[in-house]
Amino acid sequence: MKTIDDLGDLAGRRVLVRSDLNVPLDGVTIADDGRIRASVPTITRLRDAGARVIVVAHLGRPDGRPDPAYSLAPVAARLGQLLGAPVAFAADTVGDSAKATVDGLEDGQVAVLENVRFEPGETSKDESERRDFAARLAALADVFVSDGFGVVHRKQASVYEIATILPAAVGGLVAAEVEVLQRLTGQTERPYTVVLGGSKVSDKLGVIDNLLDKADALLIGGGMMFTFLAAQGHEVGTSLLEDNQLDTVRGHVARAAEQGVRLVLPTDVVVAPELSDDATPTTVAVDAMPSDQMGLDIGPESAAAFAEVIRGSRTVFWNGPMGVFELAAFAAGTKQVAEALTEVDGLSVVGGGDSAAAVRAFGLSDESFGHISTGGGASLEYLEGKSLPGLEILAG
Ligand code: ADP
Ligand code: MG
Repeated sequence: MKTIDDLGDLAGRRVLVRSDLNVPLDGVTIADDGRIRASVPTITRLRDAGARVIVVAHLGRPDGRPDPAYSLAPVAARLGQLLGAPVAFAADTVGDSAKATVDGLEDGQVAVLENVRFEPGETSKDESERRDFAARLAALADVFVSDGFGVVHRKQASVYEIATILPAAVGGLVAAEVEVLQRLTGQTERPYTVVLGGSKVSDKLGVIDNLLDKADALLIGGGMMFTFLAAQGHEVGTSLLEDNQLDTVRGHVARAAEQGVRLVLPTDVVVAPELSDDATPTTVAVDAMPSDQMGLDIGPESAAAFAEVIRGSRTVFWNGPMGVFELAAFAAGTKQVAEALTEVDGLSVVGGGDSAAAVRAFGLSDESFGHISTGGGASLEYLEGKSLPGLEILAG
């Protein structure tokens, strides 16, 4: 992959950086600024090189038209605080405000363009529309740096088409993320444990498929576990269940057995009548789930067993919370798994927006993990063995 070093002298040049600034918002407050922080090193590096830095990014899913609820203005302000330098903000993405803002930049200064998804051309299914929009973006700059790891699996104008127009390279964040993913798919130190949870089984089954060839142990928690438990004939009450995945899951269970991969499912589960902080949680064995309750966390016995496998591993990849960690009553399983990852003697990787948010909500520092990925979907697709358009276009 081409890197920033391959772009030559950047002094005085206009560098368009695609960052991933898609942070969770609580109204207009930024709930977790992890992705903004992660974008800082590349921007700083470009500033230090004397570039005029133009940041393009998206926030939420605003449906191709301006929506003040998804303005990047508060994100630009936070970026300025983190950079310790003023950040200009353009009120549109490729319009008059963007042009004037870019024209006003001096060497080493930074501007953020308004949410790129306010423009229908960004995510259009029509390639020529994406190309047209990418050309308008490209007109603002001299070179392109792709640093939004969370979007590299998307064939979108500011990720893919733009790189066919301007001289382009990957930024430091994308390079670092890819390096970690290469370590997870190449010669990994063993034992290698994969921990999966979260809410959507179908999203994660592809990863299981590919990782069964590589991992020594696969631990399943979160909403995913009920499809596995149901596939084994257990009552799962009103828990999350993807009926149409039962056969696929049975196939994975069989393959794990054939290939000698240790598949660890929870033995106990925290259930409640409803998903609420006031609900009274009870811990039951997985073969004793009441038909009118839902499972909202792995139980303490399972959490301890998971933690033990994790601590005994040399490589761990974790994606997806073990329970509804957003509510205190159902956070214990996720917390124990997260803490166990910090004790791994080797490489521990957290992937997934909610998993990363959980780690920070528990007050664990980023440094206590080998790597916290900024891109859940992108890292999963990489681990599935898919080709990611935003990386493909920068290969060579
Ligand atoms: P990530 O963003 O880390 O990839 P996901 O988006 O797949 O993770 O899933 C995160 C969500 O899964 C969390 O909001 C959490 O509340 C939910 N979740 C975890 N366990 C359960 C469960 N047992 N029932 C319902 N939702 C769950
Ligand atoms: Mg998520």
